Amino acid sequence: MAVSRTPLIAGNWKMNLDHLQAVAFVQKLYWTLKDAAHDEESVEVAVFPPFTDIRTVQTLLDADKIPFGLGGQDLSTHDSGAYTGEVSGAFLSKLACGYVIIGHSERREYHAESDDVVAAKVQAALRHGLTPVICVGETAADLEEFGASAVPAGQLRAALAGVPADADIVVAYEPVWAIGSGQAATPDQAQDVCAKLRAVISETVGADTADRTRILYGGSVKAANIAGFMREPDVDGALVGGASLVVDEFAAIIRYQKHVGV
Ligand code: PEP
Repeated sequence: MAVSRTPLIAGNWKMNLDHLQAVAFVQKLYWTLKDAAHDEESVEVAVFPPFTDIRTVQTLLDADKIPFGLGGQDLSTHDSGAYTGEVSGAFLSKLACGYVIIGHSERREYHAESDDVVAAKVQAALRHGLTPVICVGETAADLEEFGASAVPAGQLRAALAGVPADADIVVAYEPVWAIGSGQAATPDQAQDVCAKLRAVISETVGADTADRTRILYGGSVKAANIAGFMREPDVDGALVGGASLVVDEFAAIIRYQKHVGV
């Protein structure tokens, strides 16, 4: 019997919001959800601030008992040492991060992160008790040449090398052509690729892992389109970029269950 997966709505802030803006944002988001009587148990919320904000956000979540998950946007393949500018997964764990984004298309493109580097980062995350949010997705050129699922499936297969069956992972299917473009995939397209990604997890790690792993869709998610994605059986949430920086919009995405029938 299929396990039920708690939906996850994750906000990737990228290089936006300094630590003071982060405090104002998180407080406002929390109160917006409270005012709307949002059911905290029904949807998990996580934010991924820049590294320099994490300590401040952690302190706020802790002090005000705000039930949001926290994560880094990247981590080093190394645990410590002479790696100027890098951030260890050990440091993220110490800051009570539960998650770390790995292999975002912007890292793959602007920092030349290969599938091997992504796989090494997944291992680094697991070594430090962090749940990797493994991002995969095809470019517009890939889509034309190979179709929608071949590239993301290959990226995921590579990222999962050596991942044990009891590992907690999250997968984010983010078609590169949909990120920041305003042109989201259709729910059908997202479902088709997410189902194939679940099959990859099943083949490489195991059926139980595949069954309990949350697979998110990302790419121009907005309050107006989230419900369509969340109706799909293999889409368990969203990784949200631009819209996660606007309190009312992000709150409406989190509260998709209120407009899922629209
Ligand atoms: C992202 O970069 O992870 C993303 C999904 O961005 P956006 O929502 O802005 O398309």
